[in-house]
Parts: sequence; structure tokens; C-alpha cells
Amino acid sequence: MDSRKDRTLGPAARKLVILDRDGVINADSDQFIKSTDEWVPLPGSLEAIGRLNQAGYRVVVATNQSGVGRGLFDMATLGAMHAKMSKLAAAAGGRIDAVFFCPHTSVDACDCRKPKPGLFQEIARRYEVDLTGVPAVGDSLRDLQAAAAVGALPHLVLTGKGKKTLAAGNLPDGTRVHDSLAAFVNDLLADEDA
Ligand SMILES: [Mg+2]
Ligand SMILES: [Zn+2]
Repeated sequence: MDSRKDRTLGPAARKLVILDRDGVINADSDQFIKSTDEWVPLPGSLEAIGRLNQAGYRVVVATNQSGVGRGLFDMATLGAMHAKMSKLAAAAGGRIDAVFFCPHTSVDACDCRKPKPGLFQEIARRYEVDLTGVPAVGDSLRDLQAAAAVGALPHLVLTGKGKKTLAAGNLPDGTRVHDSLAAFVNDLLADEDA
């Protein structure tokens, strides 16, 4: 550990939460979220991100966006969706530090499409942190598997595809389940206070 860096950044800088996007922050669709109009936050999700920030957490997003690779929308549109997400988050007192996305489809055989751990490894490199024990929130099995692969703590939310994911079972060991992102934040901050 580099102690000088620790003094520079302070202990709060080491607190990180990794979120999936669709079905966690915003409403999901089996037809993909293809436009800014289709990007609609789930109730309470952006306020929950604000509460994480206030508790000293950096919030980063790791999201599969194969709609790019499928030609359903382009990178400019994806960027516009994320600009909308950041703007609405800011209005709710929240800040998303960065969005890490995989634009590929399964035929690309990339290393970043979850359940592959590439996006998480990129986050670890960018922030120079070990992801062991870092909470990672998702609504699909592949989110939890990617988290578990790097030693992050998988948290399943029951929004989006979450109920189907829970019913299908085979969740990684130690997966914790919450009704929503807001409920996850309640539980995380209550654990901190305990
Ligand atoms: Mg999802
Ligand atoms: Zn990829």
C-alpha cells in the first residue's frame, strides 16, 4: 500500500460502489434502452446514489451495452444517455464518477462483456484499488458473476430482471439480496453504523 497516496486521497477515496445500469438505476427493457427518451430512472435510485456520495462513496457504473454492437444505437446516443443520467443524478444530489461499458456482442468474444470481469478489472486499474470486498450491485446473474470473479461483493436487486434472477438461483456464494438500489443503500449504510 502506498501510504503517501492514502494521505493525499483520504480514507473516503477508497470507498467505492460499482453499479450495473439497466434494471438497477433505470428501468430496463427487453427491447434495449436505445434513446435518451427510453432512459427513465427507477424511483429513488438517483437519490440513493446521492446518499452513497454523502457517505463518502464513489459510484461507478459497469454496464453491458450490446445494443451498440447490434447497431441499435450509436456511441453518441449512448453518451447522450449517460449525460442525461448524470444530469438527473446531479439534480437528485448524486454524482456518478464514471461509466465503464462494453459495446460488444457475444460473438465479439471480448473480455469486458459481463460475466467476464474486464470492466471490473478496468475499474481496478483506473482507480488503483483492489476490488476485494467492494460492493457491486446488479439485477442479472452475469453482473454478480463478474463481481465475484474479482472478489467484489455481489448484491442482487429485485428491480429490472432481479426477480427472475433470484428465482433462477445459482447465485454466487455470499450474494446479498435487496428490493432496490435504495434498499441496498439503506442496508449498506446501516451496516456501516453497526
Ligand atoms: Mg441490468
Ligand atoms: Zn466487451
